[in-house]
Amino acid sequence: MSKIAISEIPVSTIETFDVVVVGGGPSGATAATDLARAGRRVLLLDKPGKIKPCGGAIPPRLIRDFAIPDELIVARIRSARMISPKDKRVDMPIGDGFVGMVDREHFDPWLRNRAALAGADYRPGRFERITHDPDGLVTVHYSPVGGQPAQVRTRLVIGADGATSAVGRTEIPGHAGMKQVFAYHEIVRRPADGSGDVEATRCDVYYQGKLSPDFYAWIFPHGDTISIGTGSARKGFSLRGAIRALRESSGLDAGETVRREGAPIPLKPLKKWDNGRDVLLTGDAAGIVAPASGEGIYYAMLGGRLAAEAAEAFLVTGKASALAQARRRFMKLHGRVFLILGIMQWVWYRNDGLRERFVSICKDKDVQQLTWDSYMNKELVRAKPAAHARIFFKDLAHLFRWVSP
Ligand SMILES: Cc1cc2nc3c(=O)[nH]c(=O)nc-3n(C[C@H](O)[C@H](O)[C@H](O)COP(=O)(O)OP(=O)(O)OC[C@H]3O[C@@H](n4cnc5c(N)ncnc54)[C@H](O)[C@@H]3O)c2cc1C
Repeated sequence: MSKIAISEIPVSTIETFDVVVVGGGPSGATAATDLARAGRRVLLLDKPGKIKPCGGAIPPRLIRDFAIPDELIVARIRSARMISPKDKRVDMPIGDGFVGMVDREHFDPWLRNRAALAGADYRPGRFERITHDPDGLVTVHYSPVGGQPAQVRTRLVIGADGATSAVGRTEIPGHAGMKQVFAYHEIVRRPADGSGDVEATRCDVYYQGKLSPDFYAWIFPHGDTISIGTGSARKGFSLRGAIRALRESSGLDAGETVRREGAPIPLKPLKKWDNGRDVLLTGDAAGIVAPASGEGIYYAMLGGRLAAEAAEAFLVTGKASALAQARRRFMKLHGRVFLILGIMQWVWYRNDGLRERFVSICKDKDVQQLTWDSYMNKELVRAKPAAHARIFFKDLAHLFRWVSP
């Protein structure tokens, strides 16, 4: 029997969805869940075979807003330790509450499964390309796992396929030039004898130029395992070398290495998330990761939710201009914090002298309180203008070297 070429399949017989979501990470899975719950026909396409490299730290706001069950939280963090270039250590206790740690190996499949239970059609497969049809629909070409190349039609494609988004690169001008750092981490088995400088409920954050010349390095406990990582945008800087050094200095070099992996982290939201027609980006694909911290999971999930709302408005009105509401709403909520964090990274991460002062500032109780309030709940606390002013003047004092670190 002769095979029929895909191009010969009559358009009217091709399976059609309201929305095709490309990428089943936190952002795409959230968008697919929300759209399926709203009664839309959704295809969730995700390329299998790789665990997302990630430190896995999530704030309580995420756990609340996106109903994450206890069994996915592998560790509860009660404090952060900031470590300066001169090895000064500043502990920042959280007070009430905790930062959750998730393993992406289990977190992402759970989110995809939730989307499927909500009614999304989840298919493991690789997105290949889009063609815009004359009748206003889009054809999505993809390769299902173990199957022949396939295609479906849809009114809208949500590109949630990560920082190197194939959807973004082909549909959104300027996507390839997105600002990013490259992050690398090693997942290490926790030493059974309790050795090594790591505590089950504390995250260690290293601000040392030798471990990262423009970002930071970390040791995050995950129950039985530990994520030891760093990031940098500087070409030629050896991320692996930095982690080797950090493992040695923290006494974690002998532990079994479970995985070594890395990926880019975008550090600036793109100016446009949609193509003004039938494609909308979200999550890392849209560049929505907090500068300075590299925190992306919460913003990816919120982005997915806002993308689903924009998609719904687009499907109801037929107006492509509705797609722009996702970015508008996101930036209204978090644009100011992203700007402040961007400036913070630019000011304090430039050299070891400034990093020393930055860690010193973290001793301040006002700074600790503001940091945790804004991280945990994703809101700037307006009720404390006096504390904000005090922090501002202390920052200036350090920046202009009126005080010693
Ligand atoms: C080393 C490292 C540590 C990090 N640590 C933290 C942290 O501790 N806390 C935090 O909040 N954030 C952290 N981040 C950032 C966080 O991981 C991301 O911001 C977040 O995963 C973004 O979610 P997403 O759904 O947008 O994209 P992703 O999680 O990247 O998901 C994209 C999905 O798209 C799929 N895909 C890609 N291409 C295709 C294709 N062609 N066809 C079909 N599917 C495709 C992928 O398989 C993947 O499932 C870290 C990042 C790195 C690299």
